[in-house]
Amino acid sequence: MKRQPQYAACVPRKDPVTVDTISRRHVLLGSGVLAGAAVAGVLPQFGPAAQLAHAAGATTHALKLGDFEITIVSDGHLVTPTRLEAPDVPEAERKAALTAAGQTAEMAQRPTNVTVIKTGEELIVVDAGSGPNFMPTAGKLTANLEAAGFDIEKVTKVIFTHGHPDHLWGALDDFEEGLRFPNATYMMAEGEWDYWMSENAEKGLPADRVTFVAAARRNIAGIEKKAQRFKTGQDIIPGLRAFDTPGHTQGHVSFELAGGGDSLVILGDALLHPIISFQHPEWRVGADHVVDQAVETRKKLLDRLAADKPRIIGFHLPFPGLGRVEKKDNGYIYVAAG
Ligand SMILES: [Zn+2]
Repeated sequence: MKRQPQYAACVPRKDPVTVDTISRRHVLLGSGVLAGAAVAGVLPQFGPAAQLAHAAGATTHALKLGDFEITIVSDGHLVTPTRLEAPDVPEAERKAALTAAGQTAEMAQRPTNVTVIKTGEELIVVDAGSGPNFMPTAGKLTANLEAAGFDIEKVTKVIFTHGHPDHLWGALDDFEEGLRFPNATYMMAEGEWDYWMSENAEKGLPADRVTFVAAARRNIAGIEKKAQRFKTGQDIIPGLRAFDTPGHTQGHVSFELAGGGDSLVILGDALLHPIISFQHPEWRVGADHVVDQAVETRKKLLDRLAADKPRIIGFHLPFPGLGRVEKKDNGYIYVAAG
């Protein structure tokens, strides 16, 4: 069966269990080789620079925040139809925004940037990536972590921004028989956990996303024994806490890390696109579950991020997804940063 690239947070592959394990191993191996050759510290931006960086195979980017050592590790990328970015917006306006992001074709590559936080004995992974069953271009996290010198057995916590496939389905191993990070505690916000487990989780979702619910529950069941639900506003570890950024999903959270007098906000999918989310936060986005709430969240977040000026990491912003929000004219822009 021919695999069609499909929409990131909308449509699962039609044959989620029919994975060619042998060719997948090949892909993993290949990606490890690429990662080994990668030059950490490359600072790609969106547009042609991002494509160059992609061609160079950069899969990790390191930075420091006080005592926290942070590494952004690629899980590969998704391939998604650009028309679904903001389906209600007149085509000419949408195309202008996409062109500004270097996305001129019908399909676009979307990076998937996983944040790894190391401090003392803690090794924390923020979101688990896609695993092998979502899109063939994603699910490279294990290989890229290992290529960057991480031992997945030493991961102490996996913390989730939300339960979409590209963030949750990598929680279990490639055969969905065990945990990908066998010694980790898996931590999800109470609101997000309750949403996916609620009787009404499918209500209001487009038909092409209904299958996400069963898959999320399967993954949640798989991690349950090692899972911890947390409340936003509480410390995960000293210096790291979650805050509510609902709308993309009902219980979506972002994480704030404070250290050395500086701070960093790990956004998950609260700000998805380098042009649209920043310059047109009011546009209704196809991937959001509670569309109007997501608009409100973006406006509040941008206001705060432009005022406080922390560094930000966006899961789908051009690799490594690290930058800041700045005010420009009457709106905001994303500025890639080191
Ligand atoms: Zn996502």
